[in-house]
Amino acid sequence: MKDYRGMSIGPSRGAALVLKGIFAFSATHKSGGKITDSYQLEITVPAEFPKLLPTARETGGKIPRDGKHHVNDDKSLCLGSPLRLRLKVSGKPTLSGFAESCLVPYLYAVSYKLQNGVEFPFGELSHGEAGIIEDYMEMFGLKSKSEVHYALELLGTRRRVANKQPCPCNCGQRLGRCRLHRTLNGYRKLESRSWFNTHRKRLGAGM
Ligand SMILES: [Zn+2]
Repeated sequence: MKDYRGMSIGPSRGAALVLKGIFAFSATHKSGGKITDSYQLEITVPAEFPKLLPTARETGGKIPRDGKHHVNDDKSLCLGSPLRLRLKVSGKPTLSGFAESCLVPYLYAVSYKLQNGVEFPFGELSHGEAGIIEDYMEMFGLKSKSEVHYALELLGTRRRVANKQPCPCNCGQRLGRCRLHRTLNGYRKLESRSWFNTHRKRLGAGM
């Protein structure tokens, strides 16, 4: 990551690469203006990257652990829903691609909140599982939790079989006859059927 000179390679953890140090960035958002800031981070990059995505922790104590700044229970930063991150990284599947498309937007939003004392200037998702479902409602163009759950189930099913099932959008047609099937086919390119099945089961509780 030559763009981020404050980061250096630390002792690796198993097969993963660990980057530690000061992550400095400067970014501009149309409704939030320009923000230049830095965070002390530890980024763990799995050996399987970009198939598996890195996780990042903030180690400088700058991001409040108050449940309002998208920090997971295991202290990793909640950068977005898994499928959204996968989609972002697919455009530039490198470490700097991950930094630019996943890490910087998150840190930008946190800095905005810390500097201005107000909410993020652009659509913020709920934290955790609810946020993931909200994001998938938007990505799939669906209206409810149960529709998203069903769409994930179809993504975990062979395409030919899935296309014969009733469409998750409640259009009354089979999936293969609705435009939603094109949307879902796009996501099939990002992950395997078994990934979608495992992901759905993890999200499944209470749906
Ligand atoms: Zn439909």
